[in-house]
Amino acid sequence: MAKDEVLECSFCGRKKPETDLLIAGLDAHICDKCIEQAHGIVMEEIAENKPTAFSTDLILKKPKDIKEFIDQYMIGQDQAKRVMAVAVYNHYKRLLQPASKEEEIEIEKSNIIIVGDTGTGKTLIARTIARMLNVPFCIVDATVLTEAGYVGEDVETILTRLLQAADYDVKKAEKGIVFIDEIDKIARKGDNPSITRDVSGEGVQQALLKLLEGAVVNVPPKGGRKHPDQKFIEVDTTNILFIAGGAFSGIDKVIGKRLNRQAVGYSASIKENKIEQNNLLQYIVPKDLKDFGLIPEIIGRLPVLTHMDPLDALTLRAILTEPKNSIIKQYEKLFEMDGIKFSIKESALEFIVEKAVEYKLGARGLRSLCEAILTDAMFELPGSEEKELVVSKQYAEDKINKSTLKRLKAVS
Ligand code: ADP
Repeated sequence: MAKDEVLECSFCGRKKPETDLLIAGLDAHICDKCIEQAHGIVMEEIAENKPTAFSTDLILKKPKDIKEFIDQYMIGQDQAKRVMAVAVYNHYKRLLQPASKEEEIEIEKSNIIIVGDTGTGKTLIARTIARMLNVPFCIVDATVLTEAGYVGEDVETILTRLLQAADYDVKKAEKGIVFIDEIDKIARKGDNPSITRDVSGEGVQQALLKLLEGAVVNVPPKGGRKHPDQKFIEVDTTNILFIAGGAFSGIDKVIGKRLNRQAVGYSASIKENKIEQNNLLQYIVPKDLKDFGLIPEIIGRLPVLTHMDPLDALTLRAILTEPKNSIIKQYEKLFEMDGIKFSIKESALEFIVEKAVEYKLGARGLRSLCEAILTDAMFELPGSEEKELVVSKQYAEDKINKSTLKRLKAVS
């Protein structure tokens, strides 16, 4: 280019001095005005047309693809995966809906509640979905929440966590996922005459309502009451997906009782299809949650109800090696980083599963058992002459016998 040639916008022809900004591309330039105009066109196009041409970096897949993605990380739990895939798909479809037009049908929020024993994958499924969608994700424990004015955390601090997960990008946080763990612990105990009436749980449930439903909430950016002078950040929860999880220990009895009543009554289908007594959770309906002590308004705002199946030995065995980042694959990687080839015999894997079942440790116990078996090797092998570790059943048994885990048996 000649030295005195003035650069110009390749779109509108304005010369550089007439623009506030001129950005160079490969063979062209664009000025600030044209950028603004082009941006306007893109936004209009998105608002009017295809909801799939979404402006943010949210990646939305079809329910089948969502399930396939979860399958890579999670064994079994087919029903929960299907229900959650549909709920998540619908939630984000709702989010992608063009800005409201009068005739538009308003799609309601599809917050989710998962009932299942501890360690059956409730957190895992929520985390996996957030990972797939590339949205901020946080886990909060319902047990620390209290009504405003009581010792503990206000419900608004749930959103503090989400803001932190989104690096304080409010727009991003407003499309995030919150997993509320142990929701069963804030159940009202009043229905049960043998337990002293506890109204605090109900108060927390009431406080949660507006968050779940969708509201603009003043969030203390640092959480807690230790920073009284912090400025609040406004967060709109309309598009935040809430997933609540809980073990609801004892709810199987509530379900069993109801099923019995129905069987005695008129529900022929239940009589015909034999009830699987060892997995009563699969028959759960919203009324059971009410009987357990959740207030109807909370149940109404968590309209998608699903359950986790108990983990049998076969599932536990698969969890050890099959998921994309399975426990055993993680150890392989850890040893490999020290140049050590790690392998484990099938009989040793079966032994680990056997112990997890025996100690009633569920999937979470698999990890503790592996740690107990491998800690000595992870301490001694790095930097030594040994370049291979083969874990046999005998080796695993010896290490477990030496470990503190063994005491669990005496307790249980
Ligand atoms: P929960 O939230 O139900 O108490 P988690 O999701 O925290 O349980 O699961 C506990 C551990 O067990 C996690 O390390 C998780 O990866 C593993 N896990 C549980 N269920 C499965 C499953 N179905 N497939 C793969 N891993 C699982």
